[in-house]
Amino acid sequence: MRKKIVAGNWKMNLDYAAGISLFSEIVNMVKDEKKGNQIAIICAPYIHLNSLAKLGADVVKIGAQNCHQNDSGAYTGEISAGMIKSVGVEYVIIGHSERREYFAESDELLAQKTIKVLENGLTPIFCIGETLEQRNNGSYFEVLKAQLDKGIFGLSAEDFSKIVIAYEPVWAIGTGLTASSDQAQEVHAFIRKEIAAKYNAQVAELTTILYGGSCNPKNAAELFAQKDIDGGLIGGASLKSRDFVDIVKVFN
Ligand code: 13P
Repeated sequence: MRKKIVAGNWKMNLDYAAGISLFSEIVNMVKDEKKGNQIAIICAPYIHLNSLAKLGADVVKIGAQNCHQNDSGAYTGEISAGMIKSVGVEYVIIGHSERREYFAESDELLAQKTIKVLENGLTPIFCIGETLEQRNNGSYFEVLKAQLDKGIFGLSAEDFSKIVIAYEPVWAIGTGLTASSDQAQEVHAFIRKEIAAKYNAQVAELTTILYGGSCNPKNAAELFAQKDIDGGLIGGASLKSRDFVDIVKVFN
C-alpha cells in the first residue's frame, strides 16, 4: 500500500508568531479529526522549522521548502540538508516550479539536492510540472519525462523508493485553475508508467505521487479518488487551518 500524504507548502508567508499560531491550530484539529493513516505535513519557511518540529509531536510532520546541495561551507545565506535534519524535519521539497523559474534551478542542480536530502535521511518531495505553453502545444509528456530523467531517474532503485513525487502543473499553481481530475490522473498514470519502465512495477506501485495546483477542500476529494493520485501538495489552502484539515480528512 502506498502512503497517502497531504502536504502544505506555506511558501514565503507568515511571520514567526503567525506561523506558530496557524500550526498549533492545525495540530489540534488534525489530532481530533484525522481518522486514517494519511500523513499530514507542513512545509514551512526555515525560521519556523525548529519550533514547529517540537510542536508537531508527530501529529503533523515538518518539511522544508528547499536546501543547498553541499554539506557546509562558504555559501552565505544558504541552509544545508544536515542543518534541516538537525531540528527534527523529515521532508524537503525539491524542484518546486517557483525555484526552477525564479532561482534558475536546473534539473542537474535538483538531482544534486535530491541526493543530499537522501544522504541525510530526509524524504525529498520532488516536484515536476509543465507550463501552460507546454500543455497547449502538447509537449508536456516530453517535458515531464525529461524532468524525471534528469532529476531523479539517476537514483538507485533503493534510493528512488524513498522519494515522493509531486506533479504540479505550473498553469494551475496559485491561479485557481485546477487540472481536472482526468487531466491530473492522465499525468499521474504516465509518471507511474515511466517509473515502472525505468525501475520495475513494484517500485512504481509503491511510489507516492501527489497533485498540486489550486487544490482546495472542494476539489480534493475528486482528485484524490483517482487511481494514481495519492494526495496533494497544497499552497494557498494550507494557509487556512480549516481548509487544510478538510483536505487532510479526504482520506479519513
Ligand atoms: P496553490 O495551491 O496555491 O495553487 O499552490 C500549489 C503549490 O505550488 C504547492 O507547492
